[in-house]
Amino acid sequence: MSRRTEKSETAFKQASKVLVGGVNSPVRAFAAVGGTPPVIAKAIGSQITDIDDNTYVDYVCGYGPAILGHASEPVVTAINKAVRHGTTYGAPTEVETKLGVAITAAIESIEMVRFVSSGTEAVMSAVRLARGTTGRDKVIKCVGCYHGHSDSFLVAAGSGAATLGTPSSPGVPTGAAADTLLVDYNDLGGVEAILKANPQQVAAVLVEPVAGNMGVVLPEAGYLQGLRDLCDQHDTLLIFDEVITGFRVGYGGAQGLYGVKPDLTTLGKIIGGCMPVGAFGGRADIMQNLAPVGDVYQAGTLSGNPAAMAAGLATLAELRAEGFYDRLEAISGQIAVGMQAAAIEAGIGDKVCFNRVGAMMCCFFTPGPVTDFASASRSNTQAHAAYFHTMLDEGVYLAPSQFEAMLVSSAHTDADVDLTLNAAKLAFAAAAKVM
Ligand SMILES: *Cc1c(COP(=O)(O)O)cnc(C)c1O
Repeated sequence: MSRRTEKSETAFKQASKVLVGGVNSPVRAFAAVGGTPPVIAKAIGSQITDIDDNTYVDYVCGYGPAILGHASEPVVTAINKAVRHGTTYGAPTEVETKLGVAITAAIESIEMVRFVSSGTEAVMSAVRLARGTTGRDKVIKCVGCYHGHSDSFLVAAGSGAATLGTPSSPGVPTGAAADTLLVDYNDLGGVEAILKANPQQVAAVLVEPVAGNMGVVLPEAGYLQGLRDLCDQHDTLLIFDEVITGFRVGYGGAQGLYGVKPDLTTLGKIIGGCMPVGAFGGRADIMQNLAPVGDVYQAGTLSGNPAAMAAGLATLAELRAEGFYDRLEAISGQIAVGMQAAAIEAGIGDKVCFNRVGAMMCCFFTPGPVTDFASASRSNTQAHAAYFHTMLDEGVYLAPSQFEAMLVSSAHTDADVDLTLNAAKLAFAAAAKVM
């Protein structure tokens, strides 16, 4: 199939004159796969349409928020109703309490919550709270986990578990990253070694309970509970960054799925119903250290924004529908199984590795197993690029990187799955040629 691209090419050229790289978030550029991204006109349900009028089945889902698909009717209605009453007051509202009640009811470890406007802000603030609460500065973070773009967490791969963080972006002061200690994902021994080497100094272990920003990497059996135990032994707080997993892998998040309770949790994406939002919450005794009750300062002009709160509340109501996650699991499983079959048919079944938890999955172009960033990095990104472009040409919209998740929404239909699996046959055949 061939796509029309003239309008997108022209629009993207214009965009690049005023927006750096033509985008407002670097993941949207096609740097890793080559070419020009389609410029989007609209998205409804499972479909996204560009300005050349090509329509694709969308597995980016806005990088996470669109679990109901796009422009879901109850969410649109809630936003419409909210905006007619003004979209920001700088004062308390009832709707933010309602969303707070819904979140604390859904996630047992969250007794109190504070809303912010992005996942980045949520993590940054949760870590400040952890530092303020413990009186310690250091934070353990896994290589390959993404926790937003704040200075302390833009730290890439070090050479080993106890390696002191080095900034991965110019502009991050060495000092800001010096208290970020790196460890490989799924490496419990590494966490233990760092905690022992830095007694009474580590405020928190910060982790994605399912890693969703190096493709999809699952926690091995006992890993999350092991982190919980180590944190308890060292009076260190455990922070689950559930910005992507929260309300995606289940209504109780990854912590509900795996049965491990963190002290603090960060949320974003889904809880804003596709509007800008973030939140952090956890044990009441810790949360009460936040201003205005406690001394740890954190604030936001648009925090708890009424339109975003209304969109989030409407989204969560849909997620509570009987059997919602069972249906999402069924269709996600169908896609994963079908994709694997397509890879086998293309003769590369043993050269790719599928990882999946519920409605988040990834096909790595490496035999695997993929358990951490190092094993994810062994992927053949050239093969991924060939696969990606064929999928796009065949009407399937994926994130333009090997290291992003493929996300499924409740709006995806059997017809979408058929189209996707037919595209996958061609895409894996294209990838096979360069493997
Ligand atoms: C997306 C994401 C963030 C950052 O959220 P933004 O809203 O983009 O700032 C943080 N942590 C995780 C795990 C994420 O997936």
